[in-house]
Amino acid sequence: MSPSEPITEYDLIIVGAGIVGCSAARAFGSDGRKVLLLERDLAEPDRIVGELLQPGGINALKELGLQDCVEGIDGIPCYGYGVIYNGETVHIPYPNDKLTEKPAVGKSFHHGRFINNLRKAARATENVDIRELTVNTLIKEHQIEGANRVVGVSAQDKSGQEFKFYAPLTIVCDGIFSKFRKEITEKTPDVRSNFVGFVMKDLELPFPNHGHVVLAKPSPILMYQISTHDTRILVDIPGKLPSASNGDLKKYMEQVVAPELPDSIRPKFLEALETERLRSMPNGFLPPTMNQTEGMIVLGDAMNIRHPLTGGGMTVAFNDVVILKKMLSPENVPHLSDSELVVKQLKKFHWKRKRYCTSINVLAMALYRLFAANDDYNLAVLQRGCFSYFQLGGICIEEPVGLLSGLIQRPLVLVYHFFAVAFHAIYIEAKRNGWSRAHHSFIMIFTVLYAACVTILPYLWSETKR
Ligand SMILES: Cc1cc2nc3c(=O)[nH]c(=O)nc-3n(C[C@H](O)[C@H](O)[C@H](O)COP(=O)(O)OP(=O)(O)OC[C@H]3O[C@@H](n4cnc5c(N)ncnc54)[C@H](O)[C@@H]3O)c2cc1C
Repeated sequence: MSPSEPITEYDLIIVGAGIVGCSAARAFGSDGRKVLLLERDLAEPDRIVGELLQPGGINALKELGLQDCVEGIDGIPCYGYGVIYNGETVHIPYPNDKLTEKPAVGKSFHHGRFINNLRKAARATENVDIRELTVNTLIKEHQIEGANRVVGVSAQDKSGQEFKFYAPLTIVCDGIFSKFRKEITEKTPDVRSNFVGFVMKDLELPFPNHGHVVLAKPSPILMYQISTHDTRILVDIPGKLPSASNGDLKKYMEQVVAPELPDSIRPKFLEALETERLRSMPNGFLPPTMNQTEGMIVLGDAMNIRHPLTGGGMTVAFNDVVILKKMLSPENVPHLSDSELVVKQLKKFHWKRKRYCTSINVLAMALYRLFAANDDYNLAVLQRGCFSYFQLGGICIEEPVGLLSGLIQRPLVLVYHFFAVAFHAIYIEAKRNGWSRAHHSFIMIFTVLYAACVTILPYLWSETKR
């Protein structure tokens, strides 16, 4: 090695030991790569995110040999969804899993307990070192052509001591508030609402072992049991968040949200408001970007975010790690220092992941637009139509929930159901209002076009980009 060459201690540095970081460390470590996983805080996280793992995510966990991480944490099996609208309910079970021919099952749990298990699994993987350090900068090598190749990171421990590490490849997965995403894109998450979450104690939900969505006004409410005694509630609040410190947030919960909840849930909701801390997280949208920077890859929420209404983030993340492991396997890329080959493989990765991420991303955003229709007349028509469409059962629920849960990985199925919902909505509306045929046709064309422009086309379009 010439004196000017940096000392390469690792094959791979991973920034952030969250959902992606831990699973990527496991994936690459078990491939024989020497991995350094850096996390700013290794204590059990206490967050309101990542608590329902869809069956498509469970399958990806299995492929990574991490299925045990959802065990031993008092998690709750999840068999599908219950949707509640104006006092009516519809049951949306997950379809059969094609791999097992049995009804698919997801799992909900305390996020921190799951992360602890993932970190333990990463630590137990041969070739993986984990260290508690905050990464402050990416170290770059200024190449002759002016390219900015990343060659390592500089990190700090809690006492302020600085460390430098070098590797031919760095995977950045520092989450939704990513410091380093700007290295690959100028895009920032488009945040239109926040989820406010807390735990309700010993509540029996209308559909036990199912996720619940209440189509409330002005915006949807999510609930799922995350342990024997705890049920998570996430209330979507569009626009500016009322202040928690002056009591406005609690007032909003009591006056706007409580009346929208079923009678069987309201008392526990009001009880929890008195005892639980209300915590919030922004709900953003960030379309994916192709990784083309030499020496680094950005993954997870740092690279791609969708509204958490459909609980798809971890499913996308684990499936990404499965594909990336294949793309960068020692057979495909013998040396991670071969930047040109890595970048070529990342291009393939970008297009290969579309088959699941497009369905999950676009469905999450389109459903959110519909479910947060509030006073928008056309969206309210579609919202009613969507609920009525689910009531039809059969493929009207099997395929949409199959897409949402990551079991069906065909974006065209999404497009089909979108238009089916739109036409069904107009049919229902015409029956309700007794429209004439001419009026009906006019409204139909207008509403379908409007719905497409507002709910699905912008998000589909963003998926076609690099
Ligand atoms: C309100 C809400 C609810 C959600 N619910 C669900 C759900 O039910 N199901 C689902 O599938 N998805 C859900 N999601 C999405 C899901 O949480 C994310 O998609 C997933 O956590 C992304 O994983 P990640 O590894 O990219 O980021 P994270 O899991 O957030 O991990 C990032 C890690 O990086 C560390 N880090 C950050 N900066 C640094 C640094 N400079 N140096 C070192 N370490 C650093 C952090 O401490 C953290 O451990 C939800 C999201 C929100 C906002």
